[in-house]
Amino acid sequence: MTSDEKELVTRLSSLFLISKLVVVNKVFFTPGPSQLYPTVADHMRVALEAGIFSISHRSKEFEAIFAETTDELKRLLGIPDSHSIFFAGSATEWMERILENCVQKTSFHFVNGAFSKRFFEIAQELKKEPHVLEVPAGQSFDFEQASIPSDTELICCTHNETSTGVALPMESIYALKERYPEALVVVDIVSSAPYVTIDWARIDAAFFSVQKGFGLPAGLGVIILNERCLARARQLESQGSPVGSYHRFSALTKYAAKRQTPETPNVPGIYLLGKVCADMNRLGIDSIRRDTETKARLMYDFFDRHAALHPFVKDLKARSNTVLAIDTAQPQAVKKALAESGFIVGSGYGAHKDSQIRIANFPAHSLEVAEQLLTKLKMCV
Ligand SMILES: *Cc1c(COP(=O)(O)O)cnc(C)c1O
Repeated sequence: MTSDEKELVTRLSSLFLISKLVVVNKVFFTPGPSQLYPTVADHMRVALEAGIFSISHRSKEFEAIFAETTDELKRLLGIPDSHSIFFAGSATEWMERILENCVQKTSFHFVNGAFSKRFFEIAQELKKEPHVLEVPAGQSFDFEQASIPSDTELICCTHNETSTGVALPMESIYALKERYPEALVVVDIVSSAPYVTIDWARIDAAFFSVQKGFGLPAGLGVIILNERCLARARQLESQGSPVGSYHRFSALTKYAAKRQTPETPNVPGIYLLGKVCADMNRLGIDSIRRDTETKARLMYDFFDRHAALHPFVKDLKARSNTVLAIDTAQPQAVKKALAESGFIVGSGYGAHKDSQIRIANFPAHSLEVAEQLLTKLKMCV
């Protein structure tokens, strides 16, 4: 090595050390991207050493990764073998793709915040004719009163509205499918998976991205769907409806049969998702769900009693266990005080930026670190 090269290496390694220090001294309670699951760093290191980030997506090695990830995910979420699992770039992409592939004209959207609204807007942007039932931020729906037009092809629900901290009862979503058997029901589970328990026979599709409850770097969206969704997509495609190009369901199905993807996918993301699902399977999903509920109870108890920090969602049944929106007169000051101790919490979403903070409660957040966050909050507010 020349002396210039040596100097460069020294500079780069000190930069690396600095960035590493900065990262490990923080805990991200942000609702996504969020704290990395504790095993991610080790899996990254192993993947680097094994050359995973350079393998061909047409190789046997990739097919094995695809198989491992889909198998571990099926085990974790109880997904039947009859269902398909596809990968794309984000959850937002899945909103667009399912509308393209399963809706010729009419979708119906339950809107109670920014993410459910985004789903509705995508339908408008695709020139569909979406119907909407919209309620104010922080509220759930009176599902029984919802009147869904009979020509609705796809009913779109956001299980956990990350912008407001409202979670919908899955039973009410299942009941929609019983009431409207002709329509397909898709559920956005982005910020509730893997905590949410799903009876896959009672919905048609669900999608998520990995930078929330799975504690992974962003850039991967996953959809799980049944044969009805695929049949609908085939029907639309055969009658000449625009169903998209490389991520149309027929192309995804063809490649998934070979445990591949139409394009060069996010191989590191797919690899890491499989590894983290395997870790979660070792722990057991029941234990992860119990821990999530224990931490949620702890946090809501704390805020329900607090003089200056109050849960935004008043209806106890509508409160999310995975994302808490908290009203405060001084969100910036609270965020700053917490950040000084290394706790990064989220801002209020959109119009709530100056009146709320949001706190994620994902599997990557241990009970211990959640308690530390509350202790710090006690001291600073
Ligand atoms: C974050 C989020 C999305 C968008 O996810 P991307 O991966 O950024 O596309 C969609 N829905 C909900 C409920 C979310 O929390």
